[in-house]
Amino acid sequence: MPSLAATAALALTGSQVIGPLFLGLLLLMAFGAFSRRADQLRRFVMLGKPVQRFDDIPKRIELETTVVLGQRKLLQRFLPGIMHAFIFWGFLVLLTTIVEAFGEVFRDRFAIPLIGHSVALGLIQDVFAALVFVGVELAVFIRKAQKPERFKGSHMAEADFVLLMIMGIVLSLFLLRGAKIALGHSPAPKEWTPISWLFSLIYHPMGAGTIRAFEHLFLWTHIVLILAFLVYIPYSKHLHIFVSEINVFFANTKARGRLRPLHIDMEKIESGDVSLGAATITDLTWKEMLDLYSCTECGRCQNVCPAWNTGKPLSPKLIIMNMRDQLFDEGPKILAAKKRSEEFESTPLNPTVVEDEAVWDCVTCGACMQECPVDIEHIDHIVDMRRNLVMGESRFPQEAGLLLRNLESAQNPWGVSQSERADWAKGLGVRVLEDGRAPEYLYWVGCASSFDDRAKKIAQGVARLLQKAAVPFAILGPRELCNGDPARRMGNEYLYQEMARQNIETLDAAGVKKIVVNCPHCFNTLRNEYPDFGGDYEVIHHTQLFETLMAGGRLRPSAEVNELLTYHDPCYLGRHNGVYDEPRHVLDRIPGLKTTEMPRHHERAFCCGAGGSRMWMEERIGKRINLERTEEAISTGAQAIGVACPYCMIMLDDGAKQAGGQVRVLDVAQVIEQSVGAGEGAAATTGGEASGAASMAPA
Ligand code: SF4
Ligand code: SF4
Repeated sequence: MPSLAATAALALTGSQVIGPLFLGLLLLMAFGAFSRRADQLRRFVMLGKPVQRFDDIPKRIELETTVVLGQRKLLQRFLPGIMHAFIFWGFLVLLTTIVEAFGEVFRDRFAIPLIGHSVALGLIQDVFAALVFVGVELAVFIRKAQKPERFKGSHMAEADFVLLMIMGIVLSLFLLRGAKIALGHSPAPKEWTPISWLFSLIYHPMGAGTIRAFEHLFLWTHIVLILAFLVYIPYSKHLHIFVSEINVFFANTKARGRLRPLHIDMEKIESGDVSLGAATITDLTWKEMLDLYSCTECGRCQNVCPAWNTGKPLSPKLIIMNMRDQLFDEGPKILAAKKRSEEFESTPLNPTVVEDEAVWDCVTCGACMQECPVDIEHIDHIVDMRRNLVMGESRFPQEAGLLLRNLESAQNPWGVSQSERADWAKGLGVRVLEDGRAPEYLYWVGCASSFDDRAKKIAQGVARLLQKAAVPFAILGPRELCNGDPARRMGNEYLYQEMARQNIETLDAAGVKKIVVNCPHCFNTLRNEYPDFGGDYEVIHHTQLFETLMAGGRLRPSAEVNELLTYHDPCYLGRHNGVYDEPRHVLDRIPGLKTTEMPRHHERAFCCGAGGSRMWMEERIGKRINLERTEEAISTGAQAIGVACPYCMIMLDDGAKQAGGQVRVLDVAQVIEQSVGAGEGAAATTGGEASGAASMAPA
């Protein structure tokens, strides 16, 4: 009976012929299956609507470098971030071991030309393979021991299988490298491949022939696992492993708060040729389709979503997962129907795939997009569905109907006559620009600060401070319409575009160049969205202007404000526009004022509940978002909540009343006023063209 060694030797001789043939067959099958699926996925994406994502290449390369290679977004959370980074970076290095494994089938003791025998490569491969192993262990620990809530609804069994495959790939690699060391033909010296050397100890009791047999066994195990991985991933729900890098490249490079304009062609709409927003899966853009492939089901978005966290049906993760399932279900049928030149009756996205309530729950806070490691753009998906519900189907919450009617009839969400828009400024000597050229700054007051009694105090404070600092400014008064943001976030793109065009016409006619705003929603719309319709202005938030004025000595805080204050980051100022520091710098300049941060602040700040037009909708399910945020503020022990947004003021003030606490809600402008002495009655000085009038005076 031949010994194991003799059998191995015989097998080896045969394998020099059979091995390459067998590998060729495996490669043919694997790449055939992979390419077939890749082509099918490509054709699904091509079903999507066009969107420009081939511009801004330097920024895209930067995204690829930082988000993909640098794992920037994943590393926002240490343990899961380091776990993923180990696996990702490890796999990049392991591409060299894959080349080596394939090479060995063709030539015994194959090494990559030039670098194959280098000590550095051997060490790097060993270390990174070990990091992949550690990464997999950490992933198992997080999933099985920590069991974070964010995985609720994810495909856990499939993810476990993927981890098992990765573990198999790394283990077979180490066992292969260990056998090489035991046989004395490892490309790198064993001192430089310490982990593989440890694995080589397993073979010590064995003879050379047996070790050689194991070397071949693990070589083929390694190859088969790699090819199985290549085929399995694109057919599984975890195809993000191959797609997310592409998705990051095509991510939005503009301001996060900007919504993609919808081209409204009335002729086509009337003839029913075009849908408004996303009615079915093929109404998504190709980038939105790519988003669906890229979801890792990590649940980071769900974890931070204010709606989900207060018990509402909306989970940004489940929206993406459900749409992906829909695409995979309908995609092949749509392609088949196209081939037969037939129409395919697609299932409506709402409520079959995504329930209406989830679509309306979104406050468009952007927390999900901030967290998503693969740059999925949830808000685009949600707003596209709202566009269809509002403009295509006239299906929306009752209160939304009232808002839209107010915007149409009175040009503001409050439904108050435009003639009352500048009433807040009575007696302040603020110039109202009726015609003629604008002074240095146009103060865009916004609807909340014009019509809500609490928020009017912000407008009055801003005006008095501008006067105190001798900043030439004027307001539009009744000619300022709502900027259109509530209509747009609600889904009525048509109404938004109408309002935007009217406002741009007014601003351009007045020769406005610089605009100061105290509302982050106005800030975002005028700065990031009006340029799409020809309105290009330098837009500055009042906290930014006040920081400059204070730094330049034009506003000098002197009176002590002995209070502990916690600053709440408005979503449309912070996350959507990156303004975090200026409001804090302003507060730091107030003598006596102490500040403290809430547990969730800066990029992680929790919404007040007003964005996405939720300000005008009832919260019927779960806890109120504004109450959740106010309680968080109160938990810091602060006596005051600092805001930089009239919506936040209204929501948190309501929250404070509900919570029954003594906490006060103040805009940053009001805090400054307490210290610089420009407070009510203190302001009389005006600067430049704003001077003179004791009451509203037309220009
Ligand atoms: S934008 Fe905010 S509310 Fe909307 S899905 Fe994302 S996290 Fe949730
Ligand atoms: S959408 Fe992004 S954050 Fe949410 S589960 Fe998918 S990959 Fe994770």
